[in-house]
Amino acid sequence: MKFSELSRYLEKLEKTASRNEMTQILAEVLKRAGSDEVGKICYLLLGELLPAYRGVEFNIAEKLMVEILAKAYGARPEAVGRSYQARGDLGDVAYDLAFTHRPRRPGGPSVRAVYDRMLEIAEVSGTGSQDRKIQRFAGLLGELDSRSAKYVARIPVGKLRLGFSDATILDALSVFSSGDKFARKRIEAAYNVIADIGAIAMRVKASGLAGLSRLHAEPGVPIRPSLAERLRTAEEVVKKAGPEVGIEPKLDGFRTQIHVWRAGDGKRVTLFSRNLENTTAMFPEIVVAARRLPVTNAILDGEAIGYNPKTGTFAAFQETAQRKRKYDIEEFAKKIPLSVFVFDLLFLNGESLLVKPFSERRQRLERLFSRTQGGGTIRLAESLTTGDPAVIERELRENVGKGLEGVVVKKLDAPYEAGSRGFHWIKLKATTAALERLRAGEGKHDPKMLDTVDCVVMAAYKGRGKRTAFGVGGFLLGVRGRDERYYSISRLGTGLSDEQFREARERVKKLAVAAEPKEYDVEKNMAPDIWVRPSLVVEILADEISLSERHTAGKPSRTGRAPVRGRKEEWRGYSLRFPRLVRFRDDKNPEDATTVAEIAKMYTAQKP
Ligand code: ATP
Repeated sequence: MKFSELSRYLEKLEKTASRNEMTQILAEVLKRAGSDEVGKICYLLLGELLPAYRGVEFNIAEKLMVEILAKAYGARPEAVGRSYQARGDLGDVAYDLAFTHRPRRPGGPSVRAVYDRMLEIAEVSGTGSQDRKIQRFAGLLGELDSRSAKYVARIPVGKLRLGFSDATILDALSVFSSGDKFARKRIEAAYNVIADIGAIAMRVKASGLAGLSRLHAEPGVPIRPSLAERLRTAEEVVKKAGPEVGIEPKLDGFRTQIHVWRAGDGKRVTLFSRNLENTTAMFPEIVVAARRLPVTNAILDGEAIGYNPKTGTFAAFQETAQRKRKYDIEEFAKKIPLSVFVFDLLFLNGESLLVKPFSERRQRLERLFSRTQGGGTIRLAESLTTGDPAVIERELRENVGKGLEGVVVKKLDAPYEAGSRGFHWIKLKATTAALERLRAGEGKHDPKMLDTVDCVVMAAYKGRGKRTAFGVGGFLLGVRGRDERYYSISRLGTGLSDEQFREARERVKKLAVAAEPKEYDVEKNMAPDIWVRPSLVVEILADEISLSERHTAGKPSRTGRAPVRGRKEEWRGYSLRFPRLVRFRDDKNPEDATTVAEIAKMYTAQKP
């Protein structure tokens, strides 16, 4: 396929906000694509060159792109900068320049040629790399028609947002391969185990759905993490997942998937975060410890957290969080060494354990740890089996007393449900009032809000009063719909410390866009001053979920669904009462934000 043809599809995708239409367009792209380019096209559609876990970064900031455009079209950088200020989008600037300087030419390079050159440019490093990047990217732009230039210029600066994620590509793969969306589950099951959308698309293209059954977990390729459902009380947990369940502390650090395998005469180790980014370089002590594990190959799931083995105490999240850094890695590894508490074993010595029941995976994990030295950087997470709600309650109280978040309950006969949130894992978290009661040793665990809510920052309001000095007075937060759109659920103004406020403002500034993103649904009278593209995820603690006319999350008139039980007025959406910022969730993508359906469940479960 020529890149110019792909860019016509990109334009169509950009213009629609309908997920159905996007799915149809994408299915057509998949049909037209050759089997040797379909994977690359999938990455490009998501504005990437490879899946995030491969860790390829362009290192082309907006300023550099201004220089690239100037070079490509023989303009002065100041003039390009001014156009950028006026247009608010580097792709549009590239389009204008290409249109005037290089009238549309037919044909042009193939998708593969453009992709390969972009990858080459991304991989340029070392001294003088900036200049080489400018030269080569400008050369590439010079060969493209104006529409193609627009999209190619957006990719390195992270601005190719077409309003869908991998979920819509999965739907499109289903439509492409079987004519409707019914094969989505099957395709998604493969994607959960091989979290590489390009590899999945190539397989479907080459051998249809049947080809997927030959895909298996593989050390080095991340598995989408299993996630926990929420319930209110220990009794409900036993009823749902019992008669007996595994119960484990809910550690508050970084989710870490450890992959180990033999390569040549040594062992290779890769670490992946909650959203499957490659974090290997950040945690050298974990890599060293993983290499020493007595395995040929393995995939382990666990939580990395600052831990003092002498006192048995865990670091607070803020301390562990300091390890998330690009610089001074060795220094901080000494200052705040982490331990990984392993709570699951997904792959061992050539065998995938995903379909094995939790009880068996846990036994194999215990056996593995009985052969290790014990202690050290990689440790076995505690786990206790019980069918007694009082024991769960006691564990919860004890763990909260140690400063942990709560407990995670594991269903003993459940397989590892990659990529899905279900009752195979149930989290009991102490939030707000319930937390205080538990800490004070009073009453039973019976919280009003079952969990914190992970929201996407959609927009910001100009400051008033004390915040005027910061230029931003508050934020508009949203949750995610099944249709991949974001619906507003709350304003956040006073629930931040000054420090958090400053950080939020800085981050929002970098994400500002000229107009309301098409995937947002916000009431007109909530109109903010600054729109922000969906990127920043914040964890919010609230007192309760209430109903409000101001927000669109779950509004029956928006979703076309029946009003929620007990909700008389058709026109009210959900909103968060007394929202406070717990932390920035850099380990979550906007696609991982809490969904409207989850909010609906939490609302229904809310204690009256
Ligand atoms: P949260 O915001 O509560 O961390 P999440 O959306 O990241 O939630 P959940 O499925 O809700 O993920 O909760 C599971 C998370 O809890 C895991 O991602 C992991 O990081 C952490 N965790 C800590 N201890 C455990 C444990 N023993 N078993 C499973 N997960 C654990």
